[in-house]
Amino acid sequence: MNIRGIRQELLILLLELGRNSHPNEFVALLRERDGIIEELDMLPGTITGGDSASLLFDMMPLDTHLAGSAHSHPNGVIRPSNADVKFFPRSGRYHLIIGYPYRESDWKCFTADGNPHDMEVIA
Ligand SMILES: [Zn+2]
Repeated sequence: MNIRGIRQELLILLLELGRNSHPNEFVALLRERDGIIEELDMLPGTITGGDSASLLFDMMPLDTHLAGSAHSHPNGVIRPSNADVKFFPRSGRYHLIIGYPYRESDWKCFTADGNPHDMEVIA
């Protein structure tokens, strides 16, 4: 499935999740429908501090509509960590990092190999 973009509502929700979880991280899986990322699944468990997205790999459901993941960086550095780059290829093609202070522009999308990707926001 070719991913055409992410639903604006979902992006706003992800930014809210980042804000509400701060100073902790959240991690969610993203699902597409008809090529648009529009659903999320929160992974179980509380993550406190650090950059621990990769620890949650074992809890991931197997899902053909899995488009990627989203997680927050409370330190505001919107760039994949080494742990992220290991985690990304296991959980879909597109990965959003949401960073402090969680404004509308405080996110970026990366491909599974950690390179920036221009993800379209669809209203
Ligand atoms: Zn990270």
